[in-house]
Amino acid sequence: MRHCSSNLADRRLIIVVSGPGGVGKGTIVDALVKRDPGLWLSRSWTTRDQRPGEADDAYVFTTGERFEEHISNDGFLEWTEFLGNYYGTPRPDQLDDPESPDIVLEIEVDGAQQVKQQYPEAILIFVTPPSRDEQERRLRGRGDPDDKVHARLRKAEKEEPVGRAIADHIVINDELDRTLDEMQSIIAVERSRRCGR
Ligand code: ADP
Ligand code: 5GP
Repeated sequence: MRHCSSNLADRRLIIVVSGPGGVGKGTIVDALVKRDPGLWLSRSWTTRDQRPGEADDAYVFTTGERFEEHISNDGFLEWTEFLGNYYGTPRPDQLDDPESPDIVLEIEVDGAQQVKQQYPEAILIFVTPPSRDEQERRLRGRGDPDDKVHARLRKAEKEEPVGRAIADHIVINDELDRTLDEMQSIIAVERSRRCGR
């Protein structure tokens, strides 16, 4: 059982949303921050190309050179290589601000492990698809080309056991509204555990 901490910084939640590609993480976190002004969504950097139709602010799209420079400057809270591209979370100023909104990171499992090591109190929510077939349908529906679909499905087989093992909560993203309600309930419970928020 968790105890209420007198350390104010502990009162700000770090919520890590992880799960295989195409499960719906981006959709979920975007909807959550719209529903709840007490959540702040971190914007990651990536060296991958922007997808057709993808929002300009989905990521900071950058080059390998700039990404590596930012690594050298210790500019990332965590970073990883995923299917041939770099992805990383820039160090949020909010981490040191006890009054900040709760922080939401939408990242893959290697990054989630790095965050957990630095901030053991971070809450990891691992999102899974109702089935691999449905995950594949969602990847294709989003317009991912064949090779990317297969690479993400193969990657998912490796990520799933790790993600499940380190997760504080596992959520099946079947029907989106139901998933959002479940995520909001989890966040409400975690907030109530932090010093009567
Ligand atoms: P991720 O960020 O995990 O890679 P996305 O948020 O890009 O996944 O979602 C992949 C696709 O699945 C998108 O087209 C999205 O609209 C769709 N999607 C997300 N959640 C659901 C759901 N619960 N049911 C059906 N489709 C969904
Ligand atoms: P995509 O290319 O589908 O946008 O993202 C590929 C994977 O990288 C997804 O699992 C996504 O959650 C993850 N990801 C996005 N941003 C970051 C980040 O900053 N750090 C890490 N470790 N993974 C990220």
